[in-house]
Amino acid sequence: MPGMHAMDDFLNAEGLRAALGPATGCDHCAGLQCAGWESVTAPLGPPLLQPLGTLRDPAIDEPTYLERHAEGTSFWHARAPVALTHFPYNRCTVWRCPQCRRGFLQYTEAGGYYVDHRVRAIDPALIEA
Ligand SMILES: [Zn+2]
Repeated sequence: MPGMHAMDDFLNAEGLRAALGPATGCDHCAGLQCAGWESVTAPLGPPLLQPLGTLRDPAIDEPTYLERHAEGTSFWHARAPVALTHFPYNRCTVWRCPQCRRGFLQYTEAGGYYVDHRVRAIDPALIEA
């Protein structure tokens, strides 16, 4: 049913594209300029963003840490592919702006001595299964 989502709803590329609007944004979400990954002090949520689900496939016990890069891009690059089956996308939660449906991904990087919350806006043109 459209509009009904839970955080454990698994989204594949098709579902992700269907749920999201263009990457242009609106007044509500204009404060988020994160074409590439950006660190934030705490995870973002309502009322700024609405939860849609997860990219973590429940059928996979331990998602890969392999990264996928395109020619001329790197992990932090604004045009890096949104490679859904690769790290870190395979561990992300999915959010969207409740006004314009611009999509966002979030995950938490946990190192030995730090925790880093990261957010990236989704350009649907960059989504790769
Ligand atoms: Zn918006």
